[in-house]
Amino acid sequence: MPPQRRSRTHKNNKAIKKAHRTRRRTKDILTIHEDLKPENADKLKHQELDADLPGLGQHYCVECSRYFITEKAATEHLRGKAHKKRLRELKEAPYTQAEAEAAVGLTTENRRPVSSSGGIDAKKNTATSMALDQAL
Ligand SMILES: [Zn+2]
Repeated sequence: MPPQRRSRTHKNNKAIKKAHRTRRRTKDILTIHEDLKPENADKLKHQELDADLPGLGQHYCVECSRYFITEKAATEHLRGKAHKKRLRELKEAPYTQAEAEAAVGLTTENRRPVSSSGGIDAKKNTATSMALDQAL
């Protein structure tokens, strides 16, 4: 028997609280995947001096989308737990629209939409996807 759910579990759950905070909200993982593309990353790493940003915007961690005041703070961050955790999260490829469609059977492996007419065709598709599942 599973443990009974306590009432008001939100109040003491740090993860839920943090997820709802917006004050120190950083970029989402998907946006960062975009930033990590060489052309974008280069631009972010070599920004112009900006008086509004910490350290004039010269010490930026692309993975964490954070600015640091000094070179020392930035290099220390690279050795830290938060940064390493972020690297682990970024190793996974972003979830794409194609994947989502494949999951519900809207497209096939070769990106062609499943034809709505013709039951035989649909049957064939499920058969091939099942074979693929077994192969994996
Ligand atoms: Zn970082």
